[in-house]
Amino acid sequence: TSLISLNGIEKIYHSQSGQIHALRGINLEVKAGEIFGVIGKSGAGKSTLIRCINRLEQPTAGTVIVDGQDITKLTENELRESRKKIGMIFQHFNLLSSRTVFDNIAFPLELAGYTKHDVEDTVVRLLKLVGLSDKREQYPSQLSGGQKQRVGIARALANRPKVLLCDEATSALDPQTTKSILELLKNINRELKLTIVLITHEMQVIKEICDQVAVMENGLIIEQGPILDIFTQP
Ligand code: ADP
Ligand code: ADP
Repeated sequence: TSLISLNGIEKIYHSQSGQIHALRGINLEVKAGEIFGVIGKSGAGKSTLIRCINRLEQPTAGTVIVDGQDITKLTENELRESRKKIGMIFQHFNLLSSRTVFDNIAFPLELAGYTKHDVEDTVVRLLKLVGLSDKREQYPSQLSGGQKQRVGIARALANRPKVLLCDEATSALDPQTTKSILELLKNINRELKLTIVLITHEMQVIKEICDQVAVMENGLIIEQGPILDIFTQP
């Protein structure tokens, strides 16, 4: 069964220079437990698409079903609750520079009202999961890019989401660090049975970890299927 289902998604941006039709009718099904990759060139609409899944963008038309709920219909209050099911990581990590590693990961837990004791327990467990137990009192500026993304991943997992959205999560990293982050995502997918949706412009990322792939061009999905079917020549 599908954990995420996009039906007839359109997105039109209004700007000074006129309208931009960023998504032109997207249909997409992501099954629970899979790693689903969306690939395409810059401007294809990938970022807009993934931001529709947690309603950082509200689609102009269509429905976005996540875990049985149409998130385009939720009030702000309902959305806050629903977003706990959806973690996200970013190209530029988006960490709070004035907070330590520990406090960055603790942040969503504090917002959710966990006790100090539960926050401590959970952050310690997450630090171990991403391999940063010895960095808990460091600040982001003291970390490498790969370490920063590990903090981003730990923070995204804090509320035990059902899906992790990855917006060009390895695009700012060198090839070797990219490999280690993809390895971590693969392990998390297996061990936590976490569904992952990622967007990238890099074929290597798709080949490395995705089960399913959609190819985007000009606001449309032009091809979609299991990775082996899409990239194997007959
Ligand atoms: P990608 O992630 O594949 O590079 P985007 O989703 O960022 O593609 O962009 C798709 C199109 O929508 C582009 O033409 C882009 O300039 C435009 N776009 C994206 N965000 C906005 C916005 N907030 N306002 C206006 N146009 C936007
Ligand atoms: P990235 O590709 O690194 O995710 P972008 O530079 O595409 O980031 O976009 C950064 C921000 O600017 C996003 O919030 C996006 O929605 C917005 N944006 C992108 N393209 C446009 C555009 N043509 N007009 C206005 N805002 C845009």
